[in-house]
Amino acid sequence: MNAIVIENTAIATVDAAGTEHASGHLIIEDGLITAVGPGPAPEGALPDRAQRIDGSGCLATPGLVNTHHHLYQWATRGHAADHTLFEWLTDLYPVWARLRPEHVQAANTAGLAWLALSGATTVADHHYVYPAGQAADLVDVQIAAAAQIGLRLHLARGSMDRGVSDGGLPPDHIVEDLDAALDATADAVDRHHDRSPGAMLQIAVAPCSPFSVSTELLREAAALARDKGVRLHTHLCETLDEADYCRRVHGCDPVEYMDKVGWIAPDTWLAHAVHLDADAQRRLGAAGTGVAHCPSSNARLGTGLADVPAMLAAGIPVGLGVDGAASQEAGHLGEELRQALYTARQLHGPHAMDARTALRLGTIGGATILGRDDHLGSLEAGKQADIALWDLTGLGHAGIADPVTALVLGPAAPLRLLTVAGRPVVEHGELRTADTAALARGLAAASANLREAPRA
Ligand SMILES: [Zn+2]
Repeated sequence: MNAIVIENTAIATVDAAGTEHASGHLIIEDGLITAVGPGPAPEGALPDRAQRIDGSGCLATPGLVNTHHHLYQWATRGHAADHTLFEWLTDLYPVWARLRPEHVQAANTAGLAWLALSGATTVADHHYVYPAGQAADLVDVQIAAAAQIGLRLHLARGSMDRGVSDGGLPPDHIVEDLDAALDATADAVDRHHDRSPGAMLQIAVAPCSPFSVSTELLREAAALARDKGVRLHTHLCETLDEADYCRRVHGCDPVEYMDKVGWIAPDTWLAHAVHLDADAQRRLGAAGTGVAHCPSSNARLGTGLADVPAMLAAGIPVGLGVDGAASQEAGHLGEELRQALYTARQLHGPHAMDARTALRLGTIGGATILGRDDHLGSLEAGKQADIALWDLTGLGHAGIADPVTALVLGPAAPLRLLTVAGRPVVEHGELRTADTAALARGLAAASANLREAPRA
């Protein structure tokens, strides 16, 4: 039996009541949290041969949940650094068309390693570039990378079938045929989607965006997801250019369009949602459609300020995402807590969001929109032992009056420990599952190779 006892640590459980302990304990047995409470662990409750960890000066929170990412973009960081979304995409599509399994392997392992070091225990990876003949190989590489680093993966199997010649944005040679995209997605669900409470791997159906996907693919994707009982994911309302595109091509706003094709539903989560008017907020809230808020990516691309306080007031479930590293080179999930709070306050002033609300977005909020809130996202007995133990003893945090404020408003905190299903992934600030120097060398080589290869 694998057992860990963490003691003498501040704990923010992020349960429904917002229970916190100034100094408390956590007991982990066989991958599950079996006890959490104030003070030291009761001697009679200690499992045999438990590893005991002194969490003095630390804050324990649920592991963070990253609800929107494109891990392959770790190999294309720093391109098109001062562009609008459409300019940035147009610049990068030809680079991504050269993606091979070895690039994706290097990018995904490096990106997941960085996410683990930033407190993430669950990662939704939206991958939508499948150059001809490589689709199955790329899925296998993505899954192997997550297994190697030890994080939970929600693989959102993306697709694009509307190239330039059909009025879309991507060049024709990187889009898939509609049937091929749907078949490959169904195959990924059948082969890999795990429905167990402790699932390390789930699959979602995820056509890329309204301007790169046909109406037929959106409709069929929704039908496929419901047939298989899995979630739907896409980008929506990221820019005003997208809204203009939808009005011009489909004669309505993006949310109205997605409603018509069956997507505004409780099994869907949408990335960005920067430009939602009151009617769109009402529709999403009434349907229970989730939003992956990506505040740093929105800032990097200058797309606008997503109004999360209004979304929460409308009843929209909201989680956080770092988005792809090509549009947000920092890629640090812990720092998104602060950026989410700052964005809310820039919109509505100092009372718009507090540190605990930001932490909820990054934990239980994310677990909810991925459909995992019964088992992930808070520190409660019976839940999966996905725990971040933040070390607040260093220069950046020592002495701050409140540990949750220290985590959210302070600089990026190092991790004393990060566990996924009770397995240590990070200890004393070091990744335990891979050699980060070797990952960085692989990432540098893959990035250079993609930059220098002839354009597809
Ligand atoms: Zn994205």
